[in-house]
Amino acid sequence: MRRFFIDKDDIKGSTVTLRGDEAHHLKTVLRMETSSSVELLDGLGSIYLAEIKTLSPSVSLEILSCERVPTAKPVLNLAQGVLQGKKMDFLVQKASELGVGRITPFYSQHTTLRDPSANRMNRWQKIALEASKQCRRPCPLEVNPLTSLDEILSSSSEHTLKVILWEEEKDTTLKTLKDLGNMDSLLVVIGPEGGFAKEEIERCTAAGFISVSLGSRTLRAETAALSAMAIFQFLAGNLE
Ligand code: SAM
Repeated sequence: MRRFFIDKDDIKGSTVTLRGDEAHHLKTVLRMETSSSVELLDGLGSIYLAEIKTLSPSVSLEILSCERVPTAKPVLNLAQGVLQGKKMDFLVQKASELGVGRITPFYSQHTTLRDPSANRMNRWQKIALEASKQCRRPCPLEVNPLTSLDEILSSSSEHTLKVILWEEEKDTTLKTLKDLGNMDSLLVVIGPEGGFAKEEIERCTAAGFISVSLGSRTLRAETAALSAMAIFQFLAGNLE
C-alpha cells in the first residue's frame, strides 16, 4: 500500500488534493492510475484510505475511510550527542520506526560537530517523513534543531523520568526502572562517540537524571541509542 503525506487543509469534504513532491511522486515517479487505492497521512494522527480520482490538472483523491491513531504515551524523547557521518541518519530512521516521540541532537565536550548544515537538518526531517510512510506512523518523529547539552539540562524539568546512559555506571541497571507506562514523558540522553566528560555526568545527575548502565560492555553510541529506543519503548508499553 503506497502512502503519501497530505495537508489537512487540502481536504474538502470527502475529496483531497495531493500537492508538491507527493503529487509528483504518485503521478510521475510511481505512475499510479486512477481508481488505485492509497493511504494518506495528515501528520496529525489520522490515516485515510483514499482512491485516486484525477491525475490532471491536479492529483485528487476521494477519501473512503479514516483511522485515528492515538499518540503513544509516555512520549519517549531521545537526546543524542550528535554523531558523525551517516549515523544520525540511521538513528532518525530507527527512532521513527520504533515510535520515539522526538530526537534532539546535541553538542557537548566530546562532540566534533557544532553546527550541522541546514541541509543535514532537512535530510533528517526527510528521513523521518519517509520512515513514517514506510512504517505507517501518522505523526512523524520530531527532529529538533541541534542544541547544547546545557540546553537539554535546563529544559529537562518537563520530563517525568530523566535517564543518562553511562558506560561507567556501576550500580544502576535497567532492572531498577519500573512502571514507565504510567509516566507522561521520558528523556533518555546518550553520548557521542567520545562519550561524556565526568563533569557532564555529574551535572546531569545533579539535575535529577538517573545514570543507567546498559551492561559491562562499552557499546558504540549508535548501538546504545538503538538499544535504548527499543528497551525504553518496551518498558513504556509502546511496542504493543
Ligand atoms: N568513551 C567510550 C568510548 O569512547 O568508547 C564510550 C562512549 S560510547 C561509544 C557513546 C555513548 O554510548 C556513551 O556516552 C553512553 O551514553 C552510551 N553507552 C555505551 N556503552 C554503554 C553502556 N555499557 N552503558 C550505558 N551507556 C553506554
